[in-house]
Amino acid sequence: MANEKIPYKIYLSEEEMPRDWYNVRADMKTKPAPLLNPGTGEPMRFEDLQPVFCDELIRQELDNDNRNIPIPQEIRDFYKMYRPSPLVRAYCLEEKLQTPAKIYYKFEGNNTSGSHKLNSAIAQAYYAKKQGLKGVTTETGAGQWGTALSMACAYLDLDCKVYMVKVSYEQKPFRREVMRTYGASVTPSPSMETEIGKKILAEHPGTTGSLGCAISEAVEVATGTEGYRYVLGSVLNQVLLHQSVIGLEAKAAMDKYGIVPDVIIGCAGGGSNLGGLISPFMGEKLRGEKDYRFIAVEPASCPSFTRGRFAYDFCDTGMVCPLAKMYTLGSGFIPSANHAGGLRYHGMSSTLSQLYHDGYMEATSVEQTKVFEAAEQFARVEGILPAPESSHAIRVAIDEALKCKETGEEKTILFGLTGTGYFDMVAYEKFHNGEMTDYVPTDAELEESFAKLPKVNE
Ligand SMILES: *Cc1c(COP(=O)(O)O)cnc(C)c1O
Repeated sequence: MANEKIPYKIYLSEEEMPRDWYNVRADMKTKPAPLLNPGTGEPMRFEDLQPVFCDELIRQELDNDNRNIPIPQEIRDFYKMYRPSPLVRAYCLEEKLQTPAKIYYKFEGNNTSGSHKLNSAIAQAYYAKKQGLKGVTTETGAGQWGTALSMACAYLDLDCKVYMVKVSYEQKPFRREVMRTYGASVTPSPSMETEIGKKILAEHPGTTGSLGCAISEAVEVATGTEGYRYVLGSVLNQVLLHQSVIGLEAKAAMDKYGIVPDVIIGCAGGGSNLGGLISPFMGEKLRGEKDYRFIAVEPASCPSFTRGRFAYDFCDTGMVCPLAKMYTLGSGFIPSANHAGGLRYHGMSSTLSQLYHDGYMEATSVEQTKVFEAAEQFARVEGILPAPESSHAIRVAIDEALKCKETGEEKTILFGLTGTGYFDMVAYEKFHNGEMTDYVPTDAELEESFAKLPKVNE
């Protein structure tokens, strides 16, 4: 059996780690639509973005042409503290499911932030430092991004101000303390520290916040403080670029053993881990070299791909950021307090949105009780305690494997296991006590939100 030659974990050596990030936009025939200036409706130029973002990151954001972007040595050195990450053959899960499918997962949870977010955090902090900035501001939902950025800023001696969505701030006090351990300041959002925070609180007293609100606050502080810029942990093209390290490593590990995935699955919040995982495979598909199925999995409570509109929208609730063309639920959409905090963003990467729109990938949504069932099943056989976000991908990987059991097909499934769930035990507790509900927005609620989409002449 060829299977027996494949180890449980395929590790690359440090030398085999990628030297370049891969920019999937270079291979897209229809490029993602440009960011627009909300005032003029014109595409944002380098100069327009300079008050908000670091210079080198703007270059990466706007670069639709260069296929390979070298990873600076300093970033590679940092990556070596926790990369390459293992590609695991889920032999135990296959056995448990009695499926002929071969299941692999790329595990990104082996670092203190507990997720893949560190891959982009270190890159963004590095370019901020190189530009001579004092610090960066950002938002965080569940806390993984804030933690990752705090770690990267501590390493490079940069100041880090985090606006944390209030509901998470209250549910996850230990996340906050991890960030403070790494020297970050953490403010619950919406706050009274910013003009936009005050405005949102006046309009929605008692709101538990959203990523969209926290982004507005972080951008306001960055643009109003000398030597600061704003950084974002998902959605943007530059973040997908940095996360391509996930897919490049996964592909290198699979190539070593001649493994070719049939279907590649990832959870989708803003699209960065999924985009990073699929990028090199998508490149082959776009160039007509190979074919793969790609599946984005999102929560039924925040279904941007499956029920959203493909339209220009604000990236934040305060409407201070540029407009992005993406699958969106509307920047005013505040999802119910589901437990996959990292998947609660109203929009989606414009790169993935374009690929989805052009039929290169699929999307599906799942309810959270089903997600936690999969999480528990996975934990019991594979040992790892998965993050609720990651468990969306597990759910669909298991469902695909069960379909193979019915049809007898020996498909090869690859999914992204983005992180660990140690800070999500309140959610696991609700699940175990049978107190978890599956809130799904109604069409009327979504229509109300769509009605507020900005009018843009394209
Ligand atoms: C943030 C996060 C996600 C979702 O973000 P993407 O940008 O869509 O990848 C998924 N899993 C974990 C563990 C996260 O922290």
